[in-house]
Amino acid sequence: MKRQRAFFHTLRLPRFRRITLPLLLLLVFTATSYSLVGRQTATVPLPGLVMIDAGHGGYDPGVMSNGILEKDITLAIAKQLQAALQARGIPTAMTRDSDIDYADSGTKGSSSKRSDLNKRLELTEIQQATVFVSLHINNSTLATRGGAEVFYSEQNEGTAELAAAVQSELHKIPQMSKRDAKPGKYYLLRNQEIPSLIVECGYLNIADERARLNTADYQKKLAEAIANGLDSWLQKNK
Ligand SMILES: [Zn+2]
Repeated sequence: MKRQRAFFHTLRLPRFRRITLPLLLLLVFTATSYSLVGRQTATVPLPGLVMIDAGHGGYDPGVMSNGILEKDITLAIAKQLQAALQARGIPTAMTRDSDIDYADSGTKGSSSKRSDLNKRLELTEIQQATVFVSLHINNSTLATRGGAEVFYSEQNEGTAELAAAVQSELHKIPQMSKRDAKPGKYYLLRNQEIPSLIVECGYLNIADERARLNTADYQKKLAEAIANGLDSWLQKNK
C-alpha cells in the first residue's frame, strides 16, 4: 500500500501545473485554430488569378538539346511571365519557382510523372485560379520549322478564344514562325476545370530558335506576348 501510494503520488501534478496545463491546452488550441483560419484566408480566390506552371523540373528535365534543358527554359519564362502579369495588375501563383518536382517518393516512370502532374492540378485548385498556363518547349526531329504553339482544354468554355488571343500575340514576335492554336489532349488540359493552356514556346532542335530560347531577351518577349493575350481575354471575361 505504501509503495502504491508513492506511485500515485508521482503521477499527481504539482498545484501550479494543475492550473497551467489547461491553460497550455487552451493556448495550443487557440494557436491551431488561428493557423487554420490563416490557411483558409490564404485560399480565398483572387479574381482573375493566373496559375503559371513551369513544365517539368527536379528529376524531370523535359526535352534536352545541346546541353539546354526544357525545365530551365520553362522556369525562366515562367518567372518573366509572372513579372509581366504582375506589372499588368493580374494576380498570379506558380506551381514551382525553383528546380523541383512533385513526384511521390518511391514512384517510378509514369507513376512519378502522374503524381507530379496531379500535384500541379491540386495546386491550381487550391489557388482557385481563373486560368492555368503550363509552359513547355518542343523537340521534334520531324519539325522543320520552329514557332510557339498554344494548346487548349477543349472542355472548358471560352478557352479557344483565350488560346487564339495568346497565339496572335505570339505571332507578333519578330522571327516567330506562325503556328495555329489547337485543342490538346494532354493530361493537364483534360483534367482542369478552368480555361487552361499549354504553350509550347518553341523547338529546341531548330538551331536558331534554340539559341533564342536560351536568352533572357527572347524569354521576356515570349512572356510579354503570353501576358498580353491573357490580359486581353481576362479584360473581356471579367
Ligand atoms: Zn514539356
